[in-house]
Amino acid sequence: MGELTSLTLKAALDGLKAKTFSSVEITQAHVDAVAKSKALNAYILETPERALQMAAAADARIARGEAGLLEGAPLGIKDLFCTESFRTTAASKILGDFKPTYESTVTANLWRDGAVMLGKLNLDEFAMGSANETSAFGPVTNPWRAAGSNQSLTPGGSSGGSAAAVAADLCLGATATDTGGSIRQPAAFTGTVGIKPTYGRCSRWGIVAFASSLDQAGPIAKTVEDAAILLRSMSGHDVKDSTSLPVDVPDFASFVGKSVKGLRIGVPKEYRVDGMPAEIEALWAQGIAWLKEAGCEIVDVSLPHTKYALPTYYIVAPAEASSNLARYDGMRYGLRAEGKTLADVYQNTRGAGFGDEVKRRILIGAYVLSAGYYDAYYLKAQKVRRRIADDFKAAFEKCDALLTPATPSAAFPIGQKDVDPVTMYLNDVFTVTANLAGVPAMSIPAGLDKDGLPLGLQLIGRTLDEGTLFSLGGALEKAADFRAKPKAWWAS
Ligand code: GLN
Repeated sequence: MGELTSLTLKAALDGLKAKTFSSVEITQAHVDAVAKSKALNAYILETPERALQMAAAADARIARGEAGLLEGAPLGIKDLFCTESFRTTAASKILGDFKPTYESTVTANLWRDGAVMLGKLNLDEFAMGSANETSAFGPVTNPWRAAGSNQSLTPGGSSGGSAAAVAADLCLGATATDTGGSIRQPAAFTGTVGIKPTYGRCSRWGIVAFASSLDQAGPIAKTVEDAAILLRSMSGHDVKDSTSLPVDVPDFASFVGKSVKGLRIGVPKEYRVDGMPAEIEALWAQGIAWLKEAGCEIVDVSLPHTKYALPTYYIVAPAEASSNLARYDGMRYGLRAEGKTLADVYQNTRGAGFGDEVKRRILIGAYVLSAGYYDAYYLKAQKVRRRIADDFKAAFEKCDALLTPATPSAAFPIGQKDVDPVTMYLNDVFTVTANLAGVPAMSIPAGLDKDGLPLGLQLIGRTLDEGTLFSLGGALEKAADFRAKPKAWWAS
């Protein structure tokens, strides 16, 4: 039954509908694959009984002709989404054995549509990181290895578990979140497709908060069409999240395969950063050529405030994180360390429960929000953020979407960029802008580097215009014809 795991989500849904195989069969195939994938450390909680129970219920609905949009499809869930009665950790020790009494809206939408939960996926602690190295459960290993090497590479972060699981055929698709690139960078590092939709497209309710004005959920998938199918189910207005947008959810998949002739594609010159590897430059040029061949018009655009995006992000995100993470005090969730006074309990709990990167963000956040520094840092960052959003608005007068590289490099060895925080933060140079502006952005696998590792291109679109991204993503996917798969060295 091994080959059932290599199907795309679309092919699996078609097979389920046609009763070529059952949900129990395809779920069991994934449960078995997951059980053999420990070397990747992608799953931090496996829920096989729950999966098979959900699969049997899906088969019954299919038999009754009541199949939902994702009926019977086994998925992986980033462990930042609260799942009722199933441990949710945000990959932090501080949440301990926390079992939510409620379900996140996004996962509830997936179950409403008939999807099956295989388990919870590893991530950077509280989604802070770009290499999955800050997880309290240890790093995820990328299923891809450089040609002729056994060195362990990072799948990126923070949604490294989601990206690795999709790339290694350990689920048909996965949920992920993106605050500054955490869907797109891991997708690029693993040869998968990831989309961060417009801020407010998906409800944030029941997703452990990192930086609330930037956090957005989205899928990581095997193909552009699969990402479209998943995003449709995940999206929608939710009264429980006041920032969720009261707009209709289009049938995103209907945009895949649509002609892109006549669309204007902006190429922002500021994304040509110093020291960018020649291979990334070449990939970008190739992407431009593909879209030109597909009938797009290429226009040069300028996003003049791009160079301020990373510093702005690394003020705004920690500021919001320091506020959001204040709730972990040992009183309500998981871990509680002993102490003589209440203040001691707080301090000891937070000291023992948070990892170093999370502590660093809390310290930076508290600093930039403190009296005397607020105006110089936080307020200034808010003003620059507006300029960055205005840059996008101006660019979208001249073009329908932007094309850029997704990351400044391919996947790198675990531990390599841990030398200082800024080296790690530089991974996010192409991705944080879309979060600051709230616009949708997608990463599409576009080729392999000289070591045989995947590289991704990024498309950035207008607010609520994910449809155009799906059409362009489909065109790039077709032109790139990316079919490479990692060798299954982990399957023991
Ligand atoms: N790498 C970025 C950070 O560490 C982005 C993380 C994310 O998008 N969740 O903040």
